Order: sequence, then C-alpha cells, then structure tokens
Amino acid sequence: VKKTGKNRFCFFDDIMAREQARRLRLERDLQKALPRRELTIFYQPKWDAEKDRLTGMEALLRWEHPELGKVTPSEFIPIAEENGSILPITRWMLEEVCSQSVRWQEEGLAAVPVSVNISSRVLDSALLVDMIHEALTASRLAPSGLELEITESIAMANLEDTIEQLGRLEQMGVRISMDDFGTGYSSLGRIGDLPFHTLKIDRSFIQKSSLFFKQAIIRNMVAIAGNLDLGIIAEGVETREQAEFLLSTGCHDMQGYFFGKPMAADSMSRWLSEGGA
Ligand code: C2E
Ligand code: CA
Ligand code: CA
Ligand code: CA
Repeated sequence: VKKTGKNRFCFFDDIMAREQARRLRLERDLQKALPRRELTIFYQPKWDAEKDRLTGMEALLRWEHPELGKVTPSEFIPIAEENGSILPITRWMLEEVCSQSVRWQEEGLAAVPVSVNISSRVLDSALLVDMIHEALTASRLAPSGLELEITESIAMANLEDTIEQLGRLEQMGVRISMDDFGTGYSSLGRIGDLPFHTLKIDRSFIQKSSLFFKQAIIRNMVAIAGNLDLGIIAEGVETREQAEFLLSTGCHDMQGYFFGKPMAADSMSRWLSEGGA
C-alpha cells in the first residue's frame, strides 16, 4: 500500500464499497432466508441461582448463510428491521417458539415462559397482536408461557403508543420484560406506566461488576424492581463471582454462559433431560 494521501483514500473507499456490497447482499438474501430454512432458533436458559432451577428461556435467531457462513443477529437484525423482513421472521419465530414450548411441556422437560425479542418495527406494527394471538391459538400454549423482551430504548422512544400496544398484549396474558435495562434513557417515573413484569439488567453492568460504581447501580436496579413489585434478571453472567455478587444483591434470576449458552432446540432437550446447569 502506497503511503500517499490519495492511495489511502482509495483504500478506505474500497473498504466502504465492500461493506456496502455485503450489506446489499445480506439485504437481498434475507428475503429468501426463511423459505430456504437458513434461519434457526437457539434457546438460552434463564436460571434461578438460589433455588437452582430453570425459570425461563430466551429465543435467539441464528442465520447460516450458504456462502457467507454465520451472520450474527447484531448484523442482520438491523437490516431485517430496515427492509421489513423482521415481520415475517418474527411471525415464524413466534409460531416456532410456541409450538416448541408446548413440546417441552408435553415431554415433561420444561414448563417455563420462553421469551422472544420484539424489535421496534414489530412493536409498532398493527399486526403484532394478531401474530401473537395466532401463534398461541395454533400451539395451544397458555399466554403466560410466552414472554416478550422489549429494549428500554424502544419502549421509551414512542411512549404513548407503546403504553397502548403493551396494554393490549398484557390484557392477553403474555409476559413482558424490559430488555437491556440501564442502557436507555427512560425516565424512571414512567416505568410504572408500562405493563412490564420484569426488568432485565443489561450485561454491560454485570460484566464490569467488580467496579464499585457498577455494583452500586446494580443494587439500585434491584431495589427499583423490588419497590415496583417487578421481577429482576441479570444477563451476561459469565463467572461464579458475578453470580455470587448478584445473589448478594437479591437478584436470583440470571442468564449467561456461566449457566448455559444459547443452543439449538435438540441440544436444549438434552441439556434439560440431564438436569440443566
Ligand atoms: P439481547 O436480546 O440482549 O440478547 C442477549 C445476547 O447476549 C445474545 O447475543 C446472547 O447470545 C448473548 N449472551 C448470552 N449470554 C452471554 C454471556 O454470558 N456473555 C456474553 N458476552 N454474551 C452473552 P446474540 O444471540 O448474538 O443476539 C444479539 C442481539 O440480537 C440480541 O441482544 C437481540 O437484541 C438481537 N436478537 C437476537 N435474536 C433476535 C430476534 O429473534 N429478534 C430480534 N428482534 N432481535 C434479536
Ligand atoms: Ca433479549
Ligand atoms: Ca438484553
Ligand atoms: Ca444486550
């Protein structure tokens, strides 16, 4: 690579062009990913570290592109949001998750709520309530067996509409949790206006929980949940030390590699039948 300013400029141009091309390709291929069965759902356990038992699971999307290999959700979800394919994908996901959940119940392996992440475009959609209703009806899953995870920033972005939409869902009996709690800009005074059942502490607080400052924030989050009569769970728990600290604050529900990584449904069945974490 020549060191002239001009060549440097070309070099960056080239990188930008390649990123642009990848994005366009992913955007186009995402439309076909569902019918081509390239998308799968992984499940990660949520664990009560005090009672030592499973309390829930989170469903997470995985995309295996035939030529590009694994594409992370952090890369493709924003694209799916933008081109609208997030709607059919979430519809499919809700159906899969509900029927898988009923299968685990029937097999006696697990009877816990399974959560699905709801992005901004899906939360805004007038189709969401019907999508959930249909998935529950087709699978015969009790509404309390389904949980929706909505990030703090999405919930707060369009507060009045969100209050209405979440109110409808809460009326149906599904559970709702605030994802990535602590990373958005919620006015704490409005949290009580939203029908959340659980606050999920973002992993950025947990993973640096050796820091005195972060520990103080976590303790306060646990206190807020307690005062508002909401459940609390911590995500991204990777070590025993983190788990022990959380227990000391009164937060018992945890999710993270320390307890179990996200896994395909058949691996989850095996994990469950072997007794879990
Ligand atoms: P999220 O909802 O905050 O999901 C948790 C992420 O943390 C997942 O990443 C999970 O694999 C990862 N994780 C779990 N335990 C640990 C741990 O102990 N340490 C670390 N470092 N990470 C851990 P993933 O699966 O790559 O998903 C990333 C994000 O993509 C999710 O963040 C969520 O915002 C989005 N996403 C994934 N699946 C879906 C989906 O089906 N729909 C929507 N709308 N978004 C999804
Ligand atoms: Ca989540
Ligand atoms: Ca999260
Ligand atoms: Ca997160």
